[in-house]
Amino acid sequence: MSDVTVIGLGEMGSALAAAFVRGGHRTTVWNRSGGKAERLILAGALPAEGAAAAVAASPIIVICVSDYPATRAILQSEGMADALAGRTIVQLSTGTPKEARDLDGWVTKLGAAYLDGGIVAWPRQIGEAGTTILVSGDETTFRRNEKLLRTLAGNLTYMGVEIGRSSVLFTALLSYLAMHWVGFCQGALVCEAEGVDVASFGSMVGDLAPILGIDSRNMGDLIANERFANPESTLKTAGTDIGRLVQHAAEAGISAEVPRFAAAIFRRAIDAGHGAEEHAAIIKVMRPAA
Ligand code: NAP
Repeated sequence: MSDVTVIGLGEMGSALAAAFVRGGHRTTVWNRSGGKAERLILAGALPAEGAAAAVAASPIIVICVSDYPATRAILQSEGMADALAGRTIVQLSTGTPKEARDLDGWVTKLGAAYLDGGIVAWPRQIGEAGTTILVSGDETTFRRNEKLLRTLAGNLTYMGVEIGRSSVLFTALLSYLAMHWVGFCQGALVCEAEGVDVASFGSMVGDLAPILGIDSRNMGDLIANERFANPESTLKTAGTDIGRLVQHAAEAGISAEVPRFAAAIFRRAIDAGHGAEEHAAIIKVMRPAA
C-alpha cells in the first residue's frame, strides 16, 4: 500500500501529487490520459495500472479533476466498487454544494468515507504554510487524515460536518473573484486608454489589499446584521460614481459592458428607495423576490 493516491494530474492534481512526494509520502498517481504521470514518477511517485488500481493502492484517495461528472465517471469505472470499500475519498475538484452532497451520498453508500474540499490557491502555492484548503465532512475522518492533508496546505481549514459547506464558501469566494477579475480588467482598460502603465495599477490595488480586506469584513457584518442605516458614504454617492464610469467608457472609447452592469444594480437600489443607506444595501435588490 502507498500512503495516498492522487487521481487527476492536470495543473492542480500534479501540484498536489508533487507536494505529497516532497513531503515524503508514498504516493500513487493516475491520470486518464498518459504522459502526465512521468515527471512525478521520476520524482518518486508510483504508477497505477488504472483508476481502480489507483484507488486500491492507498487508504486515502485525493481526486482533482475538471468537475464532479468527471469524478463520477472515474468512480463508476470497472472494478471500482470493490476497490472503494473502506477507502477515504477526498474530492478537491471544484463543484457546487449540491454536487458535494450528492457525491457524498453516492460514495458512502459504496462503503467509503468522503471529505469534500475547495482549494483556495494556485498550483504554485500548494504545499506552502499560508495556503488554504477548505475541507468539510465527518470530523473523525478529517482528523484521521488531517496531518497528511496539511502537506498540501498549511492553512488546511476544517469547515464542519455539513459536506456542502466548503463548496458554499468556495462558490461565494469565486463569485467575488469573478467580479474582481472582470473589474481588474476593466480598470486595466481605463489605464490602457488613458496611457497609464497597467502594472502600476496592479501595484496600487495590491497596496490597497488591507483596506479591501477591512471593507469585506465590514460588508459581511453589515449584511449579516441588516445594518444599512447611517452610512459614512451613501449608496447613492457610490451609484453616481459608478454611473460616471459609463460616461468615462464612452469618452475613452472602451467597452461600457462592465460599468453598465454594475451601475444598473446601483440604479435599481436607488430607485427602490435605498439611496441613503450603506453600499451593501444593494443586496436588497439582488436577493430573490420574497
Ligand atoms: P486541468 O489542468 O484542466 O486538468 C483537468 C484534469 O481532469 C486532467 O487530469 C484531466 O484528465 C481530468 N479529467 C477531465 N475530465 C475527465 C474525465 N471524464 N475522466 C477522467 N479524468 C478527467 O485542470 P486543473 O487546473 O488541474 O483543475 C482541476 C480542478 O482543480 C478543477 O476542478 C479546478 O476548478 C480546481 N482548481 C484549480 C485551480 C488552478 O489554479 N488550476 C485552483 C483551484 C481549484 P486528462 O489529462 O486525461 O484530460
